[in-house]
Amino acid sequence: MELLSTRLLALSPSETFAMAQKSNELKAQGFDVINMSVGEPDFYTPDHIKEAAKKAVEDNFSFYSPVAGFQDLKKAICEKLQRENNLEYTPAQIVVSGGAKQSLCNVILSIIDKDDEVIIPSPYWVSYPEMVKLAEGKSVYVHAGIEQDFKITPQQLEEAITPKTKALILCSPSNPTGSVYTKNELAALAAVIEKHQNVYIIADEIYEHINYIGEHESIAQFTKIFDRVVIVNGVSKGYAMTGWRIGWIAAPQLIASACTMLQGQYTSGPSSISQKAALAAYTGDQSCVGEMRTAFERRRSLIVDLLREIPGLNVNNPMGAFYVFPECKSYLGKSFNGKTIETATDVAMYLLEEAHVACVGGDAFGAPGCIRFSYATSDDNIKKAIARVKTALEKLV
Ligand code: PMP
Ligand code: GLU
Repeated sequence: MELLSTRLLALSPSETFAMAQKSNELKAQGFDVINMSVGEPDFYTPDHIKEAAKKAVEDNFSFYSPVAGFQDLKKAICEKLQRENNLEYTPAQIVVSGGAKQSLCNVILSIIDKDDEVIIPSPYWVSYPEMVKLAEGKSVYVHAGIEQDFKITPQQLEEAITPKTKALILCSPSNPTGSVYTKNELAALAAVIEKHQNVYIIADEIYEHINYIGEHESIAQFTKIFDRVVIVNGVSKGYAMTGWRIGWIAAPQLIASACTMLQGQYTSGPSSISQKAALAAYTGDQSCVGEMRTAFERRRSLIVDLLREIPGLNVNNPMGAFYVFPECKSYLGKSFNGKTIETATDVAMYLLEEAHVACVGGDAFGAPGCIRFSYATSDDNIKKAIARVKTALEKLV
């Protein structure tokens, strides 16, 4: 008998964290590694948010919070949804968790049964299929390549839906591609979902504030499917708070209650201090969000221009998040010092070892011909990194 459960043995480790770990190990050996693997803002959490956390410590917010989060935070999230997204939710429909990752996993475990199908557009964020595995569901991938800006079409969605389809996971702005669905594109996908009454949409909007198209568009705005949308969001990316671990859902009541029950049994409410910090994020001055977005947009243009100077890379122009996802197929089959590069992960490993630049191979995202760079780092680092990448790729024969 195996010591570990079949459930656990079926899981794969997070490739984004694995590459970040390798990068840190190399750094610890004294190498000058530029880490563009794991995706997190390089900015510090804004001061007014940190002050709110300090005050929460002083004010003795040291007790368990309600399982679904403090009422004032849930109210602030409803106000944010009204103000920024023109969406109506009540605090009872909000569940605050230990990061958007936990929020997603809560929802998947709450609604997916054995053999239920979950449609996942690929390229996808690494954790979606693993969460579906935990729930014993079946991931159904719908592929969208660079030629369609990594976005699925309504026809593709329609073809993928079967009587067993329970949910679609839609991430816009997208990790890993940076692609953003326009309002019209979302309307067309919503029109397909509208016809299939048993299908839910899990809308991962964690990169909402990092978009270069102006206003964020949520698929929840389409009233005919509103009752079947679960929004997943949080403070990690938009407010530079990855380590604080606060995410949330805005969901139909039944799903919100289910997630609260689940959370009540295996984590309880998230950190009370972090919740007070998140409250300050949503109720305080929002200028920090725009300032960070402006910096990301400048870096996006910089990295895209530099990558486009490298022969053999096919580079998309991402309209959000802080990732760029060039296709590197032309380098597969080439070699260096007698070692052949077979996969995109080999390209990423080669760039780490040869250029001391950490990125992530597309294999983990369901896109074996691409590599992902996170450009949430300084302009200087971007220039230095891409120059090194260019030199290293030129050495492949
Ligand atoms: N969804 C996507 C698409 C992400 O990139 C991330 C960040 N890893 C998450 C969810 C999880 O965010 P959090 O850090 O708040 O758990
Ligand atoms: N969103 C980040 C990434 O994709 C964080 C890592 C993770 O949560 O897997 O790199």
